[in-house]
Amino acid sequence: MSVYQFDVLIIGCGISGLTTAAKLAESGMKIGILTREEDPNISNTYFAQGGIIYSESSDDELVSDINKASANTANLQAAEILRDRSGNILEEILIKNAKSNFAKDENGKLLFTREAAHSLDRILYQGDYTGKEIQTSLLNYLKDKNRFPNVQILTKHTAIDLITPIHHGIKIQQRYEDNLVVGAYALNQETKEVVKILSKFTVLATGGIGGLYLHHSNSEGARGDGHAMAKRAGANLTNMEFVQFHPTTFFDSSSHRRFLISEAVRGEGGRLINSNGVAFMEKYHPDKELAPRDIVSRAIADEIIETRHDCVYLDISHKDCEWLKTRFPTIYQHCKDKHVDITADPIPVVPAAHYTCGGVKTNIKGQTNLKGLYAVGEVACTGLHGANRLASTSLLEGLTWGYIAAEDIAKKIDHAISYDPLKIQNWKSGNLEADNALIAQDWLTLKHTMWNYVGLTRSYHLLKRADAMFSELYNEIQHFYRNAELKDSLIGLRNAVEVGYMVLNSSRRNPESVGCFYLKS
Ligand SMILES: Cc1cc2nc3c(=O)[nH]c(=O)nc-3n(C[C@H](O)[C@H](O)[C@H](O)COP(=O)(O)OP(=O)(O)OC[C@H]3O[C@@H](n4cnc5c(N)ncnc54)[C@H](O)[C@@H]3O)c2cc1C
Repeated sequence: MSVYQFDVLIIGCGISGLTTAAKLAESGMKIGILTREEDPNISNTYFAQGGIIYSESSDDELVSDINKASANTANLQAAEILRDRSGNILEEILIKNAKSNFAKDENGKLLFTREAAHSLDRILYQGDYTGKEIQTSLLNYLKDKNRFPNVQILTKHTAIDLITPIHHGIKIQQRYEDNLVVGAYALNQETKEVVKILSKFTVLATGGIGGLYLHHSNSEGARGDGHAMAKRAGANLTNMEFVQFHPTTFFDSSSHRRFLISEAVRGEGGRLINSNGVAFMEKYHPDKELAPRDIVSRAIADEIIETRHDCVYLDISHKDCEWLKTRFPTIYQHCKDKHVDITADPIPVVPAAHYTCGGVKTNIKGQTNLKGLYAVGEVACTGLHGANRLASTSLLEGLTWGYIAAEDIAKKIDHAISYDPLKIQNWKSGNLEADNALIAQDWLTLKHTMWNYVGLTRSYHLLKRADAMFSELYNEIQHFYRNAELKDSLIGLRNAVEVGYMVLNSSRRNPESVGCFYLKS
C-alpha cells in the first residue's frame, strides 16, 4: 500500500482548500491537496457566476444584510469576523498573490455590483464567470513549482475515509487514545489502489451536497463526501436541513446539473408559464415573478406536479431580440447551444438545489470537535448563513475561513507530531466487481427521493417515506460496499445516502419553517 506523508492534507481544491494551501505554502510546509476530479479546476467555485463581496471593515450593513437574509438565525460572531477580516484577506490572496482579474473601469478602478438583499454595491465580478477567474488564478499561483516546491496536487484521488487511530489503529491500545484525525485513505482512480495519506493536520474543503438532488446547479462532485467522512470519524454536523434552491435553472434531460437562468430575466419582465401555456405566479403571490426566491421555487415545483410535465417555461421572447442578446449573452448562448432561441421560444426551467448552508460544525477558527481536523468553505458550518444565505457570501466565506484555518495551523505546526503510518491499518477492500447498473439505479433512486421528499417542501409524511427508502438503500449499499472493489461512484453513493439521512434527520428535528427550510403541516 502506497503511503504519502504531508504536514497538512487538504481534501478539496476549490476556493477554500486552495486558500488554505496558498497561505500555508508561504512557510514552505509540505502540503498535499486532493481532488477527485481529473481537472483540478472542476468545483463549485469554478461554476460561480455572480461575484464575491469585497467590503471595508466599517461596512456594518454587511452583518445586518447577512442576518436579514438568514431570517435572523446567523451566527453574528462569524458575520462580524467576515466583515472585519475578509477585505484584507481578499487583497492579499486574490488581488496581490493570485492576481485574479476582476472587472475594472477605464482608469483601472475596480467595479462593484449589487445583488438581491444587499444594501450596497459591494460585489466584485468578472463578466458572469467570476468563479472561473478565481479558481484558475489561485490554482496557477499554487502550481508554480519554483515558488512552492512542497505543494503536491493529487488529482483523480477520491478521499474515502479520514484516518482516526481509535478506529484504524493496528493495536487495541490505540482505541484508548483521544480521537484524533491523522490523514485520510484515498482511492487512486487510475491505479485503483487505496493509498494511506498521513498528515499532522487535515483540512476538509470538499464543498456542498447539491449533487444529491435530481436537479442541481453544482458540480457532480458536490455529493457530501466530506460530511459523511467527518460524521463517520466522530465530528459534529449542524444545520443540515438548510439547503438553498435556485428557482430557475435550464432544464434538459441530458444531465442532472442545471445551468442558472439569472433572476434578472424575471426582473426584466420574463413570465413563468406552465406546460399548458398558462401564467401561474399570480395564484401564488401578489408580486408574481418577483416574489421571494423560495416562493417562486415552490410555485414552480407545484406546477410541475400538477401538470405532470418535467418543467415550466420562462418566457422573455416579447423583448427586443437584439436587446436580449446584449443583456443576457451567456444565457442566450447556453440556450442556443441547447436549441432554444430565447428571442423566440420560452426557456424550459426547473428549480434546483444550489447551496448547502449547514455542514461540519466548526468554531470561528475552522476547528472541528476532532483534534487535527479543520473544515472550511461550503462543507463547514460556522453558522454564518444561519437558515439562508445572502447572495455572493459563500466564495468570501471559503476564502476567509480557508485563510483563518491556515493561520491557526501555522501557529501549531511546530508542536504537532506525525503519526507513524505503520501503526495504521492498511485498507481492506472486497474483490466483487461493482455493478455499474446497480450503482446508477441507486443514485437515481436517491436523487428522486431527495428531490421529492427531502426537497423544497417537506412534511412529516414525506420525510417518513424518505426514511423508509433510505433505510432500504442504506442496508443494500453497506452490504455491497463491504464486498465490492472500490470505485469513485460507489464511494460517493455510500456517502450520499448517509448525507441524505443527515438532511432528513435535521428536518425531522426542526418543527418550524425558517429561511430556506419549508415544512408543510
Ligand atoms: C452555479 C453556481 C453559481 C454560484 N455563484 C456564486 C456567486 O456568484 N458568489 C458566491 O459567493 N457563491 C456562488 N456560488 C457558491 C460557491 O461557488 C460555493 O459555495 C463555493 O465555491 C464553495 O467552495 P469550496 O471550496 O467550499 O468547495 P468547491 O469549490 O465545491 O470545491 C470542492 C472540492 O472538493 C473536492 N472533493 C469533493 N469530494 C472529494 C473527495 N471525496 N475526495 C477528493 N476531493 C473531493 C472537489 O473535487 C473539489 O475540488 C455558486 C455556486 C454555483 C454552483
